[in-house]
Amino acid sequence: MTSIDLGERDLFGWHEALAKGDVHPAELVQASLDRIAAVDEQVHAFLTVTRKEALQEAEQVDVTLSPLAGIPAAIKDNICTQNVPTTCASRMLHNFRPPYDATVIQRLRTAGAIAVGKTNMDEFAMGSSTEHSAFGVTRNPWDLGRVPGGSSGGSAAAVAAGEVPYALGSDTGGSIRQPAAYCGVVGLKPTYGRVSRYGLVAFASSLDQIGPITRTVAESALVMNAISGVDLHDSTSAPVEVPDFTATLTGEVRGLRIGIISEYMGEGIDPSVRQAVQQAIQTFERLGAEIVEVHLPTTKHALAVYYLIAPAEASSNLARYDGVRYGYRTPQAKSVVEMYKQTRDEGFGTEVKRRILLGTYVLSAGYYDAYYKRALQVRALMKQDFDRAFEHCDVLLSPTTPTPAFAFGEKTADPVTMYLNDLCTIPANLVGIPALSVPCGFTPEGLPIGLQLMAKAFDEATLFRAGDAYERAAGFTGRLPELAA
Ligand code: GLN
Repeated sequence: MTSIDLGERDLFGWHEALAKGDVHPAELVQASLDRIAAVDEQVHAFLTVTRKEALQEAEQVDVTLSPLAGIPAAIKDNICTQNVPTTCASRMLHNFRPPYDATVIQRLRTAGAIAVGKTNMDEFAMGSSTEHSAFGVTRNPWDLGRVPGGSSGGSAAAVAAGEVPYALGSDTGGSIRQPAAYCGVVGLKPTYGRVSRYGLVAFASSLDQIGPITRTVAESALVMNAISGVDLHDSTSAPVEVPDFTATLTGEVRGLRIGIISEYMGEGIDPSVRQAVQQAIQTFERLGAEIVEVHLPTTKHALAVYYLIAPAEASSNLARYDGVRYGYRTPQAKSVVEMYKQTRDEGFGTEVKRRILLGTYVLSAGYYDAYYKRALQVRALMKQDFDRAFEHCDVLLSPTTPTPAFAFGEKTADPVTMYLNDLCTIPANLVGIPALSVPCGFTPEGLPIGLQLMAKAFDEATLFRAGDAYERAAGFTGRLPELAA
């Protein structure tokens, strides 16, 4: 057992220690591997641990490359890693080893970061609890009887369990922010176009974004410095300048106009969540921010719109899994048509099939105008709502989730109750703006609660400034649960 505890310092602290030569990258990687060995049997955050590769990289890495150099990280299993399994937690891709790295992986490599493994998730990122993984559930480190959230449940749990200082996730309707909230860590969904999705296995292409899960806001900013920016391999990545996100963390929010979304402070929000968020609003007031009330009337349609658009795009994106070129193929088909059918029937889980059926239905002739096209129209109205709101404020505030982490099995019987989890997170994806979840307290049972902040497109800097000022004043971030090793 090594003597290093990864929880002792943040990324800035580890960088300093590495730069001074007080610790060696191999010690940090070993500390991560040891922690995984000690707790991951309980938590099951990882699907693959790349022990050998990580230790090898640690021996060779130049710690002066960047602030992330020589520091371990975990990667959600829908982000392509060359020659390393990328399963999307699906039987369909159980044997898939991508021939290339996603752009975010290339960028982390260039920065000298070291991936120690791939994390569990809901199959193809469809879900809010990581219960839809084909390879077993991930447990919430704060309460092993509860879900870590999803779909990036493994990434959030890995950070909360102290297995890695940070992880990458993906967020289509809340999959970074919701698990971050449930696990008491920080999650950012960047602006649509801010981070390249080249090498991210597509779920819903007009909504998907990759982003960091960290223990603090400042660390989120640091990781964003490494992964942001235009990429020729992804035509949806935006040629927008990337500022040094850490330079904007002044701790100052005096005069910042914060809009409280009234639709998300009432019905359907658990009282403990509402109370914690109300306290957060007071904290912002104390810090000198200006609090304004905001109405977003079309947000009541957000869930309906999302569950038309996301399955529609998914049904198209997932058509490629046909057993022909890669991934799972049924061993016993008599004709090619039977092969397609059997492969997809055996390779996909129930939730993925439900989305494909829904999506195929809403795109089919005769229903397209009634459902899909209508959803696009409402999406455009939602965008107008948000544009109007941002005329009066710089940041929007709401809970990240209506409730804290729920127990296993509590919502699997009824998909709609599971979908309701995404109430507050989905709008940011539909309108393409950045959104951050920051810990804002605990329930009486000791479960973490998340505060969501949203800003205008490409204004992650303001989001980080507000989130960082809040977490310094509130003091809920950076805490890790006690987990018997
Ligand atoms: N929970 C949402 C869903 O099931 C969002 C998933 C995500 O963001 N990947 O679609």
